[in-house]
Amino acid sequence: MPNRPIVSVSVDLDPIECYFRIHALPGGTPAEIRHVILRRCLPRLADLFARHGVRATFFVVGRDLEEDADGRRIVADLASAGHELASHTHTHPYDLVRLPPPRMAEEIDRAHAAIAAVCGRPPVGFRAPGYEISAELIDLLCQRGYRYDSSTFPAIPYYLAKATVMGLIRLAGRRSGSILGSPAVLRAPRTPYRPAAGSPYRRGDLPIVELPIAVTPWLRLHVIGTTLVIAPEWLRRRLTAAALAARFFNLELHGIDLADAEADGIPARLVAKQPDLRVPLARKLAALDATLNEARSQNVRFLPLQDAVSETI
Ligand SMILES: [Zn+2]
Repeated sequence: MPNRPIVSVSVDLDPIECYFRIHALPGGTPAEIRHVILRRCLPRLADLFARHGVRATFFVVGRDLEEDADGRRIVADLASAGHELASHTHTHPYDLVRLPPPRMAEEIDRAHAAIAAVCGRPPVGFRAPGYEISAELIDLLCQRGYRYDSSTFPAIPYYLAKATVMGLIRLAGRRSGSILGSPAVLRAPRTPYRPAAGSPYRRGDLPIVELPIAVTPWLRLHVIGTTLVIAPEWLRRRLTAAALAARFFNLELHGIDLADAEADGIPARLVAKQPDLRVPLARKLAALDATLNEARSQNVRFLPLQDAVSETI
């Protein structure tokens, strides 16, 4: 029994506004789709997980809970159904690690309070916007008793693609809302580890556990929802098989992975920038259903990240 591999499925609930920021789209987010991720995509994810018996971890942006009563109810119902709520900061600032420490602390503490108010339990897990962490950030999480961080994303192609896109945006005379962190992340462990004080991508003895997002061995290809839903079927199957060969598969999804661009009213200017928004919802659902079926056929245990911590380190 204890030797069964663990799959933890988590969902970053980045509000749609984040994607307008990443791509530096002019005109901002239309008011009518502001809450589309919580109200339209989240219920689809909840159905998917219910079909497969997955208890997942939802990384929530605290401000959404304060500003969107409908979204808050959906999130609260998920917590009651046994899913974990964890922190994705209060306002999802991509430059979190460049903020002065008091502002960084405020982002953690306000989200912490908003999540505790919704589910009655304070969060014990954290994921940083844009996957960027720093020694100072990890320190703040340790001081607050967080059990894990799951931001390390040691994916080589992802890092190169992000650098390219940000360079192109810069060449066009605009500024992406995102930041590019240290390439040290590419040498970070692929398996859960305790980070070193002052050096979050190295093994050490801090009380917090780092749970890296899944990448394949050697090539370090990322195995996340966005890739699985746009990849051709043969590649999706191979990425899934590679991730399932590990003892622990930390599968990261985003709310937007189950957006239906047309039915949800996503503007064409964003659809043009995000390849996954051009894939029909039915195809994306089929890809995630297939991945979860493949996991189930290997008799894995689906555990929220907070329950995986003690079993993976
Ligand atoms: Zn995010």
